[in-house]
Amino acid sequence: MFDELRQLYQEVILDHGTQPRNHHALADATCRADGSNPVCGDMLTVYLKLNPDGTVADCAFEGKGCAISMASASMMTELVKGRTVAEVKTLFESFHRLCTEDGYVLDDAEEDADRLNVLAGVREFPVRVKCATLAWHTMNAAMHGDGEISTE
Ligand code: ZN
Repeated sequence: MFDELRQLYQEVILDHGTQPRNHHALADATCRADGSNPVCGDMLTVYLKLNPDGTVADCAFEGKGCAISMASASMMTELVKGRTVAEVKTLFESFHRLCTEDGYVLDDAEEDADRLNVLAGVREFPVRVKCATLAWHTMNAAMHGDGEISTE
């Protein structure tokens, strides 16, 4: 990784990891799911509130885990608000590729999702991919009505 990106990666992980956004329960959530990553010990609950038209009205999470899992969940909750369920699924697929495929980057077409690009840093640490994608898998499970997922 370029030094510049490495530095940005550390800043973002530190910022979101120590001060996660939307880190609370959502009393009026329309769906939720619990996710766990036993390898690292990350555990979280993702709450989604969907509008009748299928857009995300609100998204929040609770839980404990390493800085990467917390940072990824924090960024995810900020990014999915206002998007349709279909758009969120596309973003999830793009994010998963970002974490696993060398050279893959999110482009401008993803709107402000390009800030997720710093999380591509987990490619250097395969065991961390599960940390980075846990919140997204859990949100996906919530949208599908599955109450619980594990990375195992
Ligand atoms: Zn972790």
